[in-house]
Amino acid sequence: MKKIQMVDLKGQYAQIKEQVDSSIHNVINSTAFINGPEVHSFQKELEEYLDVKHVIPCANGTDALQIAMMGLGLEPGDEVITADFTFAATVEVIALLRLTPVLVDVQLDSFNIDPEAIKKAITPKTKAIVPVHLFGQSANMDEIMAIAKEHNLYVIEDNAQGIGANYKFDNGKVAKTGAIGHVASTSFFPSKNLGCYGDGGAIFTNDDDLAHTIRGVVNHGMYKRYHHDVVGVNSRLDSIQAAVLRAKLPNLDTYNNARRAAARKYNKAFEEIDNIITPNVKGNSCGTNHNTICDTCNCHVFHQYTLRITNGKRDALAQHLNDNGIPCGVYYPIPLHSQKAYKDDRYNEADFPITNQLIKEVISLPMHTELDDDQIDFITKTVIDFVTK
Ligand SMILES: *Cc1c(COP(=O)(O)O)cnc(C)c1O
Repeated sequence: MKKIQMVDLKGQYAQIKEQVDSSIHNVINSTAFINGPEVHSFQKELEEYLDVKHVIPCANGTDALQIAMMGLGLEPGDEVITADFTFAATVEVIALLRLTPVLVDVQLDSFNIDPEAIKKAITPKTKAIVPVHLFGQSANMDEIMAIAKEHNLYVIEDNAQGIGANYKFDNGKVAKTGAIGHVASTSFFPSKNLGCYGDGGAIFTNDDDLAHTIRGVVNHGMYKRYHHDVVGVNSRLDSIQAAVLRAKLPNLDTYNNARRAAARKYNKAFEEIDNIITPNVKGNSCGTNHNTICDTCNCHVFHQYTLRITNGKRDALAQHLNDNGIPCGVYYPIPLHSQKAYKDDRYNEADFPITNQLIKEVISLPMHTELDDDQIDFITKTVIDFVTK
């Protein structure tokens, strides 16, 4: 059996090596390292794939979130609601911009921000909601967009983990995550579903004016050379990363299918095992009556495959897996409201029952495009042996 990796970037590279190598060489030969034609072509190709009017590439997913908030003109004191159970980047940029983060609880089944908790957190100072499509599945965008409309709030989708996923609205319309809110961010960190070979990110929006503003913000606040109209940042996707992303984008659906195939095998192995709860997949909605993880529906792209271990043995299981050469991860072990940097008297433990439960139960298994059956059998057997013994 091949050594099991949490993410296998080498196996994936082997399949696109020729194209990646030759396009990287072309960038080097052209010396158009910054803002070269590869960046422009990638931008256009991603706009088409997502069916979104504007993609603005930038340096990483954290910048993308920050720039989206700067582009919307959010100001110190404005309150921004986001999930307590997510990666810190989301709350970090809110705090950096001197906006006020308002962390709210998530839902037990989807791990995503709870619309009821959003409603309760709204005050006259609330300006925006940042749903994170955690682990590759969309937050409830029907409800979130309705809440935003009612209270006149912006919706900034953090799509770093959800790229390629579909969201099916209650009315039957389907859109890609990241093309639904007023603006969205994503990350091309190597281990993301669409990852480059360094750092990268992008902002998406369907709003022409906002796109114009953001194109200036990413470039030192310049709309005309050496005229700085707003305070901006320097945040660029470089041409070599764009070349890698151009090689991978046409394969993104295939990659996400491979992740779903692995998730399906995991689910099947765990389905009857006590104390293991497999990830809930919402919106299975391709028209056929099924209750599986469907490539046509494409509503979960499994950035992570995350189980809940409900017998209190999560940490022991993680140790057991490591002892057996199986990498695993706990995303996330500490709620954001308990982190030293983001603690605040405003927060009340009683408001975060689900996050406080999930941090003790979740464990993410190896998930990538190159998992083979032997590896999955070994992983599931090792998990089941331990949990049932
Ligand atoms: C990865 C990630 C980010 C940050 O992306 P970087 O490119 O590493 O800055 C932001 N939000 C979420 C939910 C992420 O998973």
